[in-house]
Amino acid sequence: MTLFSKIEWLMRYGVYREMMTEDDIPVVRNNIWQFLDLVTDLDAVVTSDEKMPLDIYALLGEIADDSGKQFEFVYEYEIFMAQLMSYLMPRNSEVNQKFWQFHETSPQKSTDYFYKLSKNSTYIRMDRVSRNVVWQTPTDYGMLDMTINLSKPEKDPKEIEMQKHAKPSLYPKCLLCAENAGFSGGVNHPPRQNHRLVRLDFNGENWYLQYSPYGYYNEHAIVLCQEHRPMKITHMTFERLAMFVDLLPHYFIGSNADLPIVGGSILSHDHYQAGHYEMPMMRAESIFSFKLENGVQIEGLKWPLSVLKITGSDKTALLNVANTIFEGWLTYNNETLQILAHTDERHNTVTPIMTREADKYVLYLALRNNRTNDAYPEGIFHPHPEHHHIKKENIGLIEVMGLAVLPARLIDEIGAMSASILEEKGVNIAKLSKDVSLVKHLNWLSEISDRLSLALKNSKYEPKEAIETEIYACIGEKFSKVLEDAGVFKESYNEMEAFARALF
Ligand SMILES: [Zn+2]
Repeated sequence: MTLFSKIEWLMRYGVYREMMTEDDIPVVRNNIWQFLDLVTDLDAVVTSDEKMPLDIYALLGEIADDSGKQFEFVYEYEIFMAQLMSYLMPRNSEVNQKFWQFHETSPQKSTDYFYKLSKNSTYIRMDRVSRNVVWQTPTDYGMLDMTINLSKPEKDPKEIEMQKHAKPSLYPKCLLCAENAGFSGGVNHPPRQNHRLVRLDFNGENWYLQYSPYGYYNEHAIVLCQEHRPMKITHMTFERLAMFVDLLPHYFIGSNADLPIVGGSILSHDHYQAGHYEMPMMRAESIFSFKLENGVQIEGLKWPLSVLKITGSDKTALLNVANTIFEGWLTYNNETLQILAHTDERHNTVTPIMTREADKYVLYLALRNNRTNDAYPEGIFHPHPEHHHIKKENIGLIEVMGLAVLPARLIDEIGAMSASILEEKGVNIAKLSKDVSLVKHLNWLSEISDRLSLALKNSKYEPKEAIETEIYACIGEKFSKVLEDAGVFKESYNEMEAFARALF
């Protein structure tokens, strides 16, 4: 198939996926030909009796191969791909118009439209997302969701070096700025020519809805402020979360905490994360529960982090309760539990998450504290060193809700562990310690050694599968311990209840 016919197929893809219509074809064709420096007679372009080649990523790869362009680095190819897809894209105004048109009949239709567009445009990298390893593990807190994140591209060492020396980008100021839509990208900034945003009005302030290019769960969305300003939890945060679930009641939405150690990876741009997904925390049982005079119910969840669940159908009443708890928490001290609200600086904050249950609003407030001490210089309520072999990064919003996002290195390490265990017919610490990448796992491996031997003996699976299944289960259980480290009250549910009751 010639390059010309592949371009015709690309446009058919655009029409079929409703990114453009037949009317757009002449313009799009001219744009793409110009981009690729192509000239021909249209009569020479034949496509009708040939089969649509593979999927969109394969088609883009073939066009890139045929284009004669040289790509030394992955990022150059990514820019090329995003540029090509951008010719098929509707204008941002058109996306907004359609979104709100669908919204009139059904909010779900509007997000269906926008999510599909974001996937079909290759802005959401489904080719990468599908590489993530996902599983579930039953724990004391119910079923947790586990992910090993393989969706971030592997970088060439030369590219990493170039990135180090590249000037920090002044425009767009960060990865979450609205100015990314349509941006061409470079060595230190991903291309976003095929990226579009839906504008939301929160009390006269412009915010935008977009999807995450590397979704960790269904319809993983990001809601960002038009202004590039730091994350800050205030009364307005709770109000905005409520406005969002009013607009899109089938989505949950949450904010990372606004302090280092307990916050997410980007504290410099005010944003939230949302999605169409039931997080494990939303299924947690309650340990205590009481109802206030205004009808709002407060529950303490059986969860590794300390989470209060606030439920009510009266939005104003619910937001008032949220503010009271938030303010109460900002000055709450409990020396026995090492919770100090202030030293030289503020340490207490919350990770709030809101969702709808039928006609009710549900707000989860995970109580957080980011203090450090000599024993735990990285954070008292942060994954402790004995768990760092699995996870040492901050416990952000997504993990608070029970969805683990674990580092890619684990895949090779699990492979090496299970190969050794199979060969030795059990955990042989001396042998395992010869592999540098496994040294950090040795204590844990001796702890779970009996379980692994038992799995090897009794499992209905093939030996390799039996070992790996057991290792994955042990990692899931370990993740629940990691989350416990981030819990401020730990198992002192009565103290959490006393804190909440004292406020009303
Ligand atoms: Zn920004």
